[in-house]
Amino acid sequence: MIRPVVLYGDPILREISAEVNRASKLDIDRLIDDMFETMHRAKGIGLAAVQIGVPLRIFVVEAHMKEENFHFRGVFINPKILSELGMVVKHPEGCLSVPGLAAMIERSEGIELEWYDEKWVYHKEKFFGTAARILQHEYDHLGGKLYTDYLDTMWQKMFETPLNLIEERKMEVTYLCK
Ligand code: ZN
Repeated sequence: MIRPVVLYGDPILREISAEVNRASKLDIDRLIDDMFETMHRAKGIGLAAVQIGVPLRIFVVEAHMKEENFHFRGVFINPKILSELGMVVKHPEGCLSVPGLAAMIERSEGIELEWYDEKWVYHKEKFFGTAARILQHEYDHLGGKLYTDYLDTMWQKMFETPLNLIEERKMEVTYLCK
């Protein structure tokens, strides 16, 4: 089921998401299905549960990068960045909660991440490049952070008006949102 994407300005995006308890009665499979469906419809490559109004530590990723011949798909439950690796690199980034915008953002080239997948299998792995960037972006959502928090003064100026329009819900969005 497609769920509305929570947009910039909604205070839930600033909440610290809670750990997922395996024993809870929450239908996680259903939540994950909804997250993928919502993300695909909105043409996103990553989505955190809080972006559909569920402040739990889960995000999903699915990205196809033709030029890198790269298909990256995964469900990340209770993830933890164990270390940041390599240099700091600058790349363009966007977010389904901040529609129509993108900015150059600095992040670590690589990370080491541990997490549980949808079958509650534990993983620990190092990621670099596009994968590392997507994971760091989604991980930030779990801590109530958005990429717009990292804008330098020049980008802040450029983002001021469009961010206000999003906050006032005056920005046209091509997918279901709230
Ligand atoms: Zn985002």
